[in-house]
Order: sequence, then structure tokens, then C-alpha cells
Amino acid sequence: MTQFAAREGELVVGGKRLSVLAAQVGRTPFYAYDRGLLRARVAELRAALPRAVKLHYAMKANPMPALVGFMAGLVDGVDVASAGELKVALDAGAEPAEISFAGPAKRDVELQQAVAAGVLVNVESMRELPVLAAASQALGLPARVALRVNPDYELKGSGMKMGGGPKPFGIDVEQIPQALAQVGALGLSFEGFHLFAGSQNLRAESICEAQVKGFELALRLSQDAPAPLQVLNLGGGFGIPYFPGEQRLDLAPIGQNLSALVERAATELPQARLVIELGRFLVGEAGVYVTRVVDRKVSRGQVFLVCDGGLNHHLSASGNFGQVLRKNYPTTIGNRVDAPRENASAVGPLCTPLDLLADRMELPQADIGDLVVIFQSGAYGASASPQPFLGHPAVVEVLV
Ligand SMILES: *Cc1c(COP(=O)(O)O)cnc(C)c1O
Repeated sequence: MTQFAAREGELVVGGKRLSVLAAQVGRTPFYAYDRGLLRARVAELRAALPRAVKLHYAMKANPMPALVGFMAGLVDGVDVASAGELKVALDAGAEPAEISFAGPAKRDVELQQAVAAGVLVNVESMRELPVLAAASQALGLPARVALRVNPDYELKGSGMKMGGGPKPFGIDVEQIPQALAQVGALGLSFEGFHLFAGSQNLRAESICEAQVKGFELALRLSQDAPAPLQVLNLGGGFGIPYFPGEQRLDLAPIGQNLSALVERAATELPQARLVIELGRFLVGEAGVYVTRVVDRKVSRGQVFLVCDGGLNHHLSASGNFGQVLRKNYPTTIGNRVDAPRENASAVGPLCTPLDLLADRMELPQADIGDLVVIFQSGAYGASASPQPFLGHPAVVEVLV
């Protein structure tokens, strides 16, 4: 499942043996994100998808500034979900015209910042419209808007559903005509629609279905629009495999489906560019979390590798980031990948049984000082974890 090679019995991350990389970082625990794998993933997508489809990075998956800067140079745009993320994207050199700003509860000042920066606001609520109009007036700048639509269908097979039914995200499709009328009346600069149905989907046919439905919905809604559609953001939701038995997402049918939609768009929405926005799929497999074994204990026959980091840095690997059933992320002992196996559990330093990184897995035999590596850790890691909990040092992040 892992994308990382091994050399001389050690995992290779960023071209270096893990023990050498750990020495370079100078302390554990750390996250390392591999530039080569990030580049390869974008290339793989570009090869599978039609060139006309714009590829955006949804930076909430991993907002590390150096990584955002690197990704900004590879993709066509960056999606942010707060003024804090907007700052990181702008600092990273992302082109403001290609930044979009989604997210519920955008405060008035965040909407003003978005107008001042010249980015596209994906409007989540009618309340945002007059605030944007006031900001536009005050600054003498256009307020670029797309309406995020909460559709009347769900993305099947999604890890997290974010569209369909009652949702705090987007404007219900029934209210879109009214919202479009208001966009026109307020003189906002209408650019298009944004649909995002859900996350972590490994079923290509579900993603294709959501894309087709999104396209058709946008086509229907565009009849009431005050201006032709320039952008149609069809969302993303592309998942990565985490657990045994999970199949890698097949990009080929998604590429074919998008090619058909590009063709339809050429006649049915001739001014619109199609956009997909991906977070986890772009960065998740390029990252590892590395934590050092501080103690090795045997309790009633069960081996515990007690590590210097755990759920405080990597909540999702502990199974506490929205998972229904806890399962082990792919894990190894990165400085001795070929050692004889034993059944062991890796736990973090926190005084709670929730702080479990690997539960009774077959792992290379490890001792104090060895490096436990959790794969598939490039997305929803450091920034999605409760770092101050129990007062341990913050995790280091490196782009290598
Ligand atoms: C979270 C989110 C994403 C990224 O989701 P991934 O599953 O990481 O690809 C993209 N767009 C929106 C609107 C989101 O809320």
C-alpha cells in the first residue's frame, strides 16, 4: 500500500534513509512530506484527466506553508476555507484569481479580506451576499462570487457526506433562484457554482455519478443566472486506501467521464471552465508520521511500543477523527523494515486508552530508540490534531 521505497533495511523518505532524515530533523516526532511523491501524484492525475479540467488543491488537508507553496506551483488553483488559510495561500504565491474561498461562518472581516484579495468567494449562505456587496462598494472592487449549492442528492460511498439533505454547507438548491436574483440585484460579479458532496470516496462510479448530476444541476440553475457561467467547481471527494481490502481509486473512468463533461460544456456552458478540488488525494499518500519508541513494555504477554507522540499529533491514525470503527493505518518500524515480525501495539504518550497508533499489528521487532512510521499521513494530520492536549512538545513538519 505504501508509496515509499526501502534501502539497506530502512525506509527512504525524501531520498534519505529514515535514520538519516531523523538526524537531520533533530528531534521526533515529525511529519515528513515527500516532494517527489507529491509531484508524481499530480502528474498521475494530469495524465488521467482531460487537460481542460482545472485541478485545485484544497489546502485544509495539509496547510503547512512550504507544502502549500510547493503545491501552488503544481496545480491550477488553491481552495481555502478561512482567512488564515487565505493568508498562507497568498504568502505561498498562489495566484489570487485562482484562489477560491469556501466554508461556513465566514465572518464579515473575512469576506472583506476576500474581496480585497480579489479571490473567488464560494458563497455558503444568503447572509454573505449583502456583506460582500458592502465590501465591494467600500473598496471599489468587484466581489467575485460562486454559489455553493447544497444539492438534493448525496455522494454515495463517501466517508464524510457534505451535501444532500439538511446541511450547514452551501445554499439549498431550492433557494438558488432567489440567491441568483439577489446576486444580480446587489451587482455582485457572478462567476458560477460550487458543488462538494463529500470526502474519502474510493468508488469511481459514485464520483462520476456525482459529477454528472452536478453538471446537470448547474446547467439547469444557470438559466436563472445573471451572467454566463465562467466556473463550475464539481468538487472532488477522491479517496485514498487506508486499510487492508480497500481498493485504490480507479482514475480511468473518472477521466473518461470528465472528458464527456468537457465536451458537453463546450456547447452547453461554453464560457465555463470545469474545476475539481482535491485535498487528501493529492497529499495524503506522500506523508509519513514518525515517532520514536521511548519504552518497550510487555503487559500480560502483549508488547507495547510506547512512543513520544500519538493522538496529540495524529488524531486520525488513532481512529478518533470521525471514524466509526477504529482500524490500524499502515505502519512499520522505519529504521528496520526487514527485522523479524512480532505482534505489537504502538501507543502514544498520553494518559488515555484512546492514544493508540497501532493495535496488535504484525510489525518488525522494535526496541527503545527505533522509529515507528505511520503511512498515509500527509492529510488531516498535524493541523487536525489536538496538539496542546497533555502538554507535550509540538510536532515538527518537514518537506523533503
Ligand atoms: C474538505 C474539503 C475538501 C477536501 O476534501 P478531501 O477529502 O481532502 O479531498 C474540498 N472541498 C471542500 C469544500 C471541503 O470542505
